[in-house]
Amino acid sequence: MTVGPNQTASDTNAVNGNQKLPRLQIIDGNQNFSKDLQRFMKDEWHLAEHGFNYNLVAVFGSQSTGKSTLLNRLFGTDFDVMSETARRQTTKGIWMSRGKDMDVLIMDVEGTDGRERGEDQDFERKSALFSMATSNVIIVNLWEHQVGLYNGANMGLLKTVFEVNLQLFQAARGKEKTLLFFVIRDHVGTTPLANLSATLTADLERIWDGVAKPEGLESCKISDYFDTMFTGLPHKVLLPEKFDQEALKLRDRFTNPNHKDFVFKPNYSKRVPADGFHVYAEGIWDQIMANKDLDLPTQQELLAQYRCDEIAGVAFEAFSAKIKGFRQPIESGKVLEDLGPQMEEIRNTAIKHFDKDASRYHAEVYKRKRAEILNKTNSTLHVFYLGQLKNLTKKALTTFKTIVQERLKGDKYDFAEVVQEARQKSEGLFLEGAKAIVLTETDWAFDEDYSQLQEEISEIAARSRVEETKKMVKALEKSFENQVNEHIGLYLNKPSPEMWSKILTKYKSIRDGIEDQLLKKAKSFNSTEEENAQTIHNFRKRSWQMLRKKIDDEVADNVFLLKLRERFEEKFRYDDAGVPKALQLIPLFAQVELPSDMDLGVPSDEEMNFEETLVVISETRQHDLTTRFKRESDAFYLEAKRSVVATQAR
Ligand code: GDP
Ligand code: MG
Repeated sequence: MTVGPNQTASDTNAVNGNQKLPRLQIIDGNQNFSKDLQRFMKDEWHLAEHGFNYNLVAVFGSQSTGKSTLLNRLFGTDFDVMSETARRQTTKGIWMSRGKDMDVLIMDVEGTDGRERGEDQDFERKSALFSMATSNVIIVNLWEHQVGLYNGANMGLLKTVFEVNLQLFQAARGKEKTLLFFVIRDHVGTTPLANLSATLTADLERIWDGVAKPEGLESCKISDYFDTMFTGLPHKVLLPEKFDQEALKLRDRFTNPNHKDFVFKPNYSKRVPADGFHVYAEGIWDQIMANKDLDLPTQQELLAQYRCDEIAGVAFEAFSAKIKGFRQPIESGKVLEDLGPQMEEIRNTAIKHFDKDASRYHAEVYKRKRAEILNKTNSTLHVFYLGQLKNLTKKALTTFKTIVQERLKGDKYDFAEVVQEARQKSEGLFLEGAKAIVLTETDWAFDEDYSQLQEEISEIAARSRVEETKKMVKALEKSFENQVNEHIGLYLNKPSPEMWSKILTKYKSIRDGIEDQLLKKAKSFNSTEEENAQTIHNFRKRSWQMLRKKIDDEVADNVFLLKLRERFEEKFRYDDAGVPKALQLIPLFAQVELPSDMDLGVPSDEEMNFEETLVVISETRQHDLTTRFKRESDAFYLEAKRSVVATQAR
């Protein structure tokens, strides 16, 4: 069967119900890389989730040496085998399949013997590079009679493999190796395998010596890069049963980890996670096609960057979908219950998701990309964190105000205690809520928000304190006023020489009582000495003004004239000078008479001069009142006299 460039890149070639895994032409005849590799890894070969748990085998060797036949026999694959009668195939390309019942990918590299036909060795070199960069084991397939033909096609191919290998691995020279597995076909048996191996080994050494070594690697050995294994297989056509037997035994070496010659050692792995194989393989092929320098560490870094970004992208998308619901309520001012644990859970799930797939890739790149997605998820969540903090602050302030308001409604309270209690509740609410939304692996802090809240609470408390103090003072002033009205009015209505002394004594005792209460209440406001002094100062002034107002009310023209008239009617008398005795009330009321032994302690300031307030009725007013009353009393007297005369006259 001839495979032309137009043939489909994959097919299933089901044989009599013995369903075989489909194969894929990953490099076609035009040296293009297949677009289907990712799909095959996932859906056809089911290897994408295998991580590092898979191996890759490639086969090299001259055309028509039974390579495909061998692979199909060993691995249960379905690679094309040239029929005995068909023309020689000239296709160049690489086919891939998964081995049946094994976690192994097989590459059938076609057309690697261009030199046999005198063609250029371009594809041979490319496919060698590609195989070396991807495979754990390279099967080198050759006829027994080719062994020892140092200048034969196989040796040329091996030289290419060695050169390519040095290019790929010089930077990664360490424990990593590739196994060269020589399968000697049509092994007759007259020459023991050991002899054939020795011959091949000697040839390999000679080839190795002839390969130009890069600087610094002049003395490196084959064994630094390669392990070798040799086996022979009987003639398939002449000894079909023996061939089958031996092939079966050989298969065991690829499938049974307990086999003493199990071919897949851990250090043969090219460390490409299965879910990134398609990216890696295509990247390698692109580099090869572009004729660019190719080294595996760089390729692995590039792969890691690409894949880590891809994995992070998927993880972030899932993450974004889950956090969508937070925005609206937070923006509308709600404090979300469980926001912290929820954010932590969603973020950790995203990171775990990332870790699961990405941690297999190049360690440095993985670490860097992990930091990136952690940072990205954290800063996305930080917006919600800040929003919630803001809402928490508001809630805490409202809580504070509400508690204070409620408690001040009662009549017995200690203001300082009320504030302290409300502050504790409100700040506690904030701190608890804030702590709950600080995620691990972040440097989120709320110190500033906390101190700002404390400041705002202090401001509200201070304002409320001023208001409450005012209210309290007002209430006490009212109480003072009532007492003054009750007691002082009495004295003013019964004027006597002792009037002032009695008034002032009473005033002082009422005031002292109120001052006591003032100071007691002030304590509950945590007032300072200075504030207390100020309160007393103000109150003394206010109390004096209230007293004076009371006095002024009593000496207002009409009220006072009435007083005089009452007094006049009561006594109805003139003194020796013919002045109504009632007028004696004027000098009595004109001036608050401060007893010499009494210090009221009423302060004077710009607003009020105590001395001046002692004057109740100015001289002008005294004169005015005197005149008015005299006129009134004289008229009254005349009227009285006239009526007496009239009565007598009847
Ligand atoms: P490839 O080109 O190396 O992949 O070779 P194929 O597997 O297509 O086989 C080429 C031809 O060699 C076919 O006609 C096979 O029947 C034949 N062949 C396969 N295995 C053997 C073998 O072990 N010995 C011999 N002499 N012929 C074989
Ligand atoms: Mg073939």
